[in-house]
Amino acid sequence: MNHRPFVVAGLMGWPVSHSRSPDIHNHWIAQLGLRGSYVLLPVAPENLGQALRALPVLGIAGCNLTIPHKVAAMALVDHVDPVARRIGAVNTVVVQPDGSLAGRNTDAYGYMESLMSEAPDWTPAAGPVAVMGAGGAARAIIVGLADKGVTEIRLCNRSPDKALALAREFGAPVVAVPWEDRHAALEGAALLVNTTSQGMGEQPPLDLSLDLLPADALVSDLVYVPLRTPLLAAAQARGNRTVGGLGMLLHQARPAFEAWFGVMPHVTPALRALVEKSL
Ligand code: NAP
Repeated sequence: MNHRPFVVAGLMGWPVSHSRSPDIHNHWIAQLGLRGSYVLLPVAPENLGQALRALPVLGIAGCNLTIPHKVAAMALVDHVDPVARRIGAVNTVVVQPDGSLAGRNTDAYGYMESLMSEAPDWTPAAGPVAVMGAGGAARAIIVGLADKGVTEIRLCNRSPDKALALAREFGAPVVAVPWEDRHAALEGAALLVNTTSQGMGEQPPLDLSLDLLPADALVSDLVYVPLRTPLLAAAQARGNRTVGGLGMLLHQARPAFEAWFGVMPHVTPALRALVEKSL
């Protein structure tokens, strides 16, 4: 008889069917020889509160949250950690020993881990960072970069009010740059990050010429479908090094897995290949 606990975690979203998270977590469960399962939990927005409260009752260790629950969950869990509060969204819920619900956000960690493992010579002191987009993902990128000590983040968004609001909220190092000045924002930048949805799937490419970007700048795209976005292809064509969005997806899952299953897993070539096959 096996006395090790069987641990269940999952993903709450609406819809959830296209998620790669089960592939990632179930790969780690098998690879590490653990007993457990990561399951899809389709939960409609109006049921989120009840569904979260059911986690301890069902003996579930916790869950990830995706569209449309990440912001709503902030008000529904018992504790929100400081990083999640600054990002303004919860992507991971961990059931505590007393049955209370702890909300975290692992996206900033995931992005920075991906960046630093795929471009190990990039440092926060390398120079200004130009960030395109000011939506939910941009908030995590800003928190991640600022916490690592980046001193200048040039934030460009099509709708100027959102970039201005984030610059006001986060203060230095974030500076809002008007969308029409986004090309000038690339001058002298050490890193360019696309956090917009442009270049994803059927969306048109991000409308950005790289002419003013230094040849040694790093270009990173959060979009991972396709893996090689038009922005990354354009960057590679002029000799810039690139980091795709898949690494962030894989690395953000690690601290959540550790919280539920008690082991910090690794991003390996086998995991990357497994998820790439499903894209
Ligand atoms: P979001 O909150 O809806 O924000 C979308 C952003 O894209 C906004 O800044 C929006 O600008 C901008 N945008 C949309 N259409 C545009 C256009 N035609 N031209 C210029 N900008 C445009 O979405 P999100 O949650 O931040 O996600 C953004 C992207 O990041 C998605 O592709 C998502 O898949 C990806 N992502 C990847 C990971 C990962 O793990 N790799 C994690 C999170 C997100 P406006 O404000 O002007 O509308």
